[in-house]
Amino acid sequence: MNKIEYGMKLDFSNVLIRPKRSTINSRSEVSLERTFKFKYSPLEWKGTPIISANMDTTGTFEMYQILKKHKIVTATHKFYNEFDYLEALNEGGLDPDYFMVSTGIGPGSLERLEKIFKYIDCHWICIDIANGYIKSLVDFCKKVREKFPKKRIIAGNVVTREMVEELILEGQVDIVKIGIGPGAACTTRLKTGVGMPQLSAIIECADAAHGVRGHIIGDGGITCPGDMSKAFGGGADFVMVGSAFAGHDETPGDIRTGSDGKQYKSFHGMSSKKAMETHYGKMATYRSSEGRELLIPYKGPLETTVLDYLGGLRSTCTYINAPSIKEMPKCTTFIQVSQQLNTSLV
Ligand code: 5GP
Repeated sequence: MNKIEYGMKLDFSNVLIRPKRSTINSRSEVSLERTFKFKYSPLEWKGTPIISANMDTTGTFEMYQILKKHKIVTATHKFYNEFDYLEALNEGGLDPDYFMVSTGIGPGSLERLEKIFKYIDCHWICIDIANGYIKSLVDFCKKVREKFPKKRIIAGNVVTREMVEELILEGQVDIVKIGIGPGAACTTRLKTGVGMPQLSAIIECADAAHGVRGHIIGDGGITCPGDMSKAFGGGADFVMVGSAFAGHDETPGDIRTGSDGKQYKSFHGMSSKKAMETHYGKMATYRSSEGRELLIPYKGPLETTVLDYLGGLRSTCTYINAPSIKEMPKCTTFIQVSQQLNTSLV
């Protein structure tokens, strides 16, 4: 094997989508809902294939209340226990199709899942670890499939073809989550030098997954509605969003005024010092923190941002003659560019 892989790998900002002659005259003609059948789970799903990230800022019941109205899924973070789910169920109800229970693979993880599913019904399990290349992830996925044969199971994160195939075929998961290092609060690439530009990762992994009747989630790196269109155009079946859904009224934390007089909210990665201290009491000493805490602009109600993203997707579809999200990969041709925006007045 070559020590160096030549051929440029691409991020969302390295491309634009080529417009094409279109017979879709209005955004209202575009459908953003998709129906999926999965490789192992017999449970069909119909909804908007966007997922709010399982971070403690965006994977909350407050987010779920808004997003479910748009049939967008909330991946709830792994620090909720069975009583938290019960409380949410009693307070506003929980639709088993529009939230995911997330888990790591450490001791007690399987038992936690069993406890939660004793009390609440949920069709999704998201098995999420930073480095999806370790063998123990595949083993854990198999155990989860044995215990919960009907659920839609997701595992990640990885960014290359062979591990996507391994997780689907050996791990028996329905969906693989793609992304190492693209997240806004992520410092993996800085701390380890490991990663893959997100658009190329999506294109490679979608091809691998679809080849064995699996699906993928493009996770991380969405900075604007155009990025989301590029992720779907590249073949992502679902797109997961963290920072772009953070900084709203519904996300935790106070609004702070910055030295520039603008309003901000705090956002942090799930392996940042802040997250470790909040959930585990202290930083685990064997690992460096591969996440950071940052201030992001305060954006008001989440609903406004969601409508902006959904509107952007519809508009992309009218430019490329795609009647629905499902048709986007078929209708998308990317143009490699040296500059995607006019930034002269920023
Ligand atoms: P965003 O939409 O903010 O660009 O990316 C969200 C994704 O970043 C999450 O779904 C998750 O995969 C990833 N992420 C969240 N926290 C951390 C962290 O502390 N470290 C790393 N490496 N990735 C993170």
